[in-house]
Amino acid sequence: MAASSEKLMSQPRSYQQFYKQSVSEPDVFWTREAARIDWVKPFTRVCDFSNPPFAKWFVGGETNLCYNAIDRHLATRADQNALVWISSEVEAQRTFTYRQLFDEVNRFAAILKSLGVGKGDRVLIYMPMIPEAVFAMLATVRIGAIHSVVFGGFAAASLAARIDDAKPKVMITADAGSRMGKIIPLKPLTDEAIQFAGHPPKHVVVVNRGLDKNIQYIPGRDMDYMALCHRHSGKDSGKDSTEIVPCEWVESSHPSYILYTSGTTGKPKGVQRDTGGYAVALAASMPHIFDMRSGSSPQFAETFFCTSDIGWVVGHSYIIYGPLINGCTTIMYDGLPVRPDAGIWWKIVEEYKVSVMFSSPTAVRVLKKQDPAFLTKYDTSSLRYLFLAGEPLDQPTSDWIEKGINVKVIDNYWQTESGWPILSAEPGIEDTPRKCGSPSFASYGYRIKLKHEETGLPVAPNEKGVLCIQPPLPPGCMSTIWGDDARFVKTYFSSFKDEQVYTTFDWATCDQDGYYFIMGRTDDVINVAGHRLGTREIEEAIQAHHNIAEVAVVGVADALKGQVPIAFAVVKNAAKTATPELAAIHEKEVMATVDHELGAIGRPARVYFVTVLPKTRSGKLLRRSIQAICEGRDPGDLTTIEDLSALDQVKQQVEN
Ligand code: AMP
Repeated sequence: MAASSEKLMSQPRSYQQFYKQSVSEPDVFWTREAARIDWVKPFTRVCDFSNPPFAKWFVGGETNLCYNAIDRHLATRADQNALVWISSEVEAQRTFTYRQLFDEVNRFAAILKSLGVGKGDRVLIYMPMIPEAVFAMLATVRIGAIHSVVFGGFAAASLAARIDDAKPKVMITADAGSRMGKIIPLKPLTDEAIQFAGHPPKHVVVVNRGLDKNIQYIPGRDMDYMALCHRHSGKDSGKDSTEIVPCEWVESSHPSYILYTSGTTGKPKGVQRDTGGYAVALAASMPHIFDMRSGSSPQFAETFFCTSDIGWVVGHSYIIYGPLINGCTTIMYDGLPVRPDAGIWWKIVEEYKVSVMFSSPTAVRVLKKQDPAFLTKYDTSSLRYLFLAGEPLDQPTSDWIEKGINVKVIDNYWQTESGWPILSAEPGIEDTPRKCGSPSFASYGYRIKLKHEETGLPVAPNEKGVLCIQPPLPPGCMSTIWGDDARFVKTYFSSFKDEQVYTTFDWATCDQDGYYFIMGRTDDVINVAGHRLGTREIEEAIQAHHNIAEVAVVGVADALKGQVPIAFAVVKNAAKTATPELAAIHEKEVMATVDHELGAIGRPARVYFVTVLPKTRSGKLLRRSIQAICEGRDPGDLTTIEDLSALDQVKQQVEN
């Protein structure tokens, strides 16, 4: 089952040639890249695109994500560190070699099996950033089940909506997480969500970290993780070894996970990922895009440090699967970049000789507010590249960190849907010059089109168009929306009449040299600190407050977070907001409602109260005009507005 190194050698060395081969000879290209992972049964067809826009990659091939991430490294990397967990929140550190990770994952897989989880069943993971979350994810795919990780910052109602969509057999949670030293209980939110849910899981496995002393177990449903571990460690049967659970070999297109993301409607979309295509995409991206060299030789190991959270796609791909498939040591960091001080990340880089880091522009902007002396306090010379993604990267932020730690910064652009970069420089192939503000070029395999919003025609250089991808989407990209193929086609492939292309919902330009620049979203989705939130989702959360009649939420430019949500609400009982003091109390109440319904992540920075919202005569909210006023810009064409005084109210509120 070993990858053929001969095949890997024959790739072109200039990025242009490399890219060209990926789109002109995709079968040759992807067959070569597919040799980076182990298959128990070879595929018979590279891509089946007979039912567009659905694409099936590596048809007939059988593999397993967990096998590729762990088992196949045991012969050569058993004693190498696989996972290093560092928490500045609870001041702890744990390290797992590939052998130890194998043991932990097998134990968790045995637990899941004992709870009746089998191939195709869903396991919902609502966890803080702790190693057990990684064990749970790997154990799930080991047995052919499908995980759905819900970010620990989401509140009970959001969690319930995801439970009802994924219908998990088992949920895994912890007593609590911690943020800035404050305990954030998760178990009570899990209980509340399950109460709301129409499809509650049969069992909840609870990792009790001893942080929340008031934790309650529901008999028969809730199981303590440590007790289950003890049962499956072999000790009960007199053996002292972990139970080995064989990998479930699955066909390449078997779903590995569902990850929910926001869209223009309030209902989150379950992005469904396959197994084989995803494993190949990540295995290829580690050397080509991230220039990680671990995979080149079994004796050689490098450390990758991605600062994201496992609740996001970046965490799935580049804290867990990408680095492990590639035989790297991966760092999982639980905490803020400024605690205990702003040198923590650089201390980690020094200690673990990190080769490549992945973070977000917001995180760098947070560090930029701190004493720059932290940048030179530690030896960061091992660091070759810092990849930043999730939101536009501004030049001052990029320059500051590039000079501060003497590292090459690489802006890369992608989405939950793609699973790996759509646009990026590929320094592992060729270290092409970069232009600030641009995530460089299309990644290999992506056939990008910039289409005119209305005509669908290709736009001229430097002209704004909608960033689209010509299907089939490359390996690793979403295969559909979980349980809703029709919504997948309608949402992503129906924007243009002239052809069926995937729409990213981002504006972009491309200059004469082929560099792309992202110009913001075409839809009502906003980007807060690199995280995507639907304005509809926030509006629905606000409407859960009993005194809110109507509300509009817009994303407004923010120096630190890129964008923040601002709400304009019409109340039912105006007496409650009659004075500035009452309005301030009401604003706090509305914010608390959002915390409860959606999670603090969606909390608006301000809630303004108005008596009427700016709408067109046909009743459509004029969000772009509201946003323009909030950002001090011209509100644009107002010929269709129903009531001009509505915009005056917005203006007055913002200016006060
Ligand atoms: P998410 O799916 O939550 O990762 O959000 C994806 C969205 O984030 C994209 O559609 C873009 O709007 C934005 N985004 C991601 N990376 C970049 C980048 N490098 N530059 C500008 N916007 C980005």
